[in-house]
Amino acid sequence: MRGLALLLLVFAVPALADPMRSELRMTLYHEVGHAVFDQLELPVYGVEETAADAFALALALRLHSEAEMTQIVTDTTERYRAEAATELFDNWAQYMPSGQRLARAICLFYGGKPVQRGDLARALGMPPDEAERCRSDAADMDAAWAPVLDDLAPAPGVRADSLRLGRGSHRLGALSRDIKRVNRRIALPRPVPVEVEDCGEPNAFYYGEAERIVICTELLDVLGGDAH
Ligand SMILES: [Zn+2]
Repeated sequence: MRGLALLLLVFAVPALADPMRSELRMTLYHEVGHAVFDQLELPVYGVEETAADAFALALALRLHSEAEMTQIVTDTTERYRAEAATELFDNWAQYMPSGQRLARAICLFYGGKPVQRGDLARALGMPPDEAERCRSDAADMDAAWAPVLDDLAPAPGVRADSLRLGRGSHRLGALSRDIKRVNRRIALPRPVPVEVEDCGEPNAFYYGEAERIVICTELLDVLGGDAH
């Protein structure tokens, strides 16, 4: 599906299919999480990658409508399942295995609005026995992140200069609109460029010393190749 193709052709940038945009949105918000931990010097209890995943979801829930969130969770489920099928377990990895990261996201998404999201969560594989724990964990996540996100809110009517489109960002296509959304919602102490460059792997990074986010060209290539 290339629903944005017409619009994007006008700007001569690659078309972004929706599943690709969903993945990139959550990737961007995860990296923003690292930037927030770094710039606010927040203590991170537990593994930072897991905390960044939780931050990404908490931010997404404040940026997107219920319909958009349904799309994002559904799209990322498909992709994470595909990744999990071929993934080798690594005891030393900083990330939870893809299948577990996905389950955690579905669990926390469900737990925030159990009545509205129950059917979708069950359709995406959440076992009924997990429902109560997910509701409790979602409340804990919100209690942890709500004060941080509230403190980061820009003054009314002000769009912050938190994320800047940097080198190669013309390749991000529609994600640039999500970057503007982030700037309306959070004001980082210092601006962070979002750049696109070769990394040698399909990934994304936040570099603390330079305070910049990099989306790897290999990730765009992989997602562009997979997204239809
Ligand atoms: Zn990370």
